[in-house]
Amino acid sequence: MDEAITTVNPEALQDADLGASKPVPQPEPTLKQVREWRAANFTVRHSTVNACGHKIDLRIPPSNANCWPCWEAFFSVSPDGVSSVHKLLLHGGTQAVIAVHGTKFTKVFGKFLQKKLLKEYESPAVQAASGIEGSIMNVKEEANVSQLSTPE
Ligand SMILES: [Zn+2]
Repeated sequence: MDEAITTVNPEALQDADLGASKPVPQPEPTLKQVREWRAANFTVRHSTVNACGHKIDLRIPPSNANCWPCWEAFFSVSPDGVSSVHKLLLHGGTQAVIAVHGTKFTKVFGKFLQKKLLKEYESPAVQAASGIEGSIMNVKEEANVSQLSTPE
């Protein structure tokens, strides 16, 4: 302890002797201020997934790796990320995505794409555009005419 006293910087003592007012004590930041500061600087934006009630950080793959709603939320909020992984998938194939993101990610990503495509497929606009609706009606008409006709 004596040693600590002898190593005090003499200049610091001189400054103190000049009668400079004590440094204004920093007001203790309130919890609210701390939170705001953290939110502004390095917030971990935890959102709750409505479907499952899990809290997830949407910037990284869900910690509940087996929870589909978490993954769906994760992909849904990052269309840019989805599009970049999709590009990787198109150019490098499944193996490339696995190499970068791992097998679990690749698996759920495939599921997400599939569901997304199915959803778009289901929408009336897409059905009309692709003529699916029409072909289904034609099939039924053909079926009425002859049970033997095989729809293409
Ligand atoms: Zn979840």
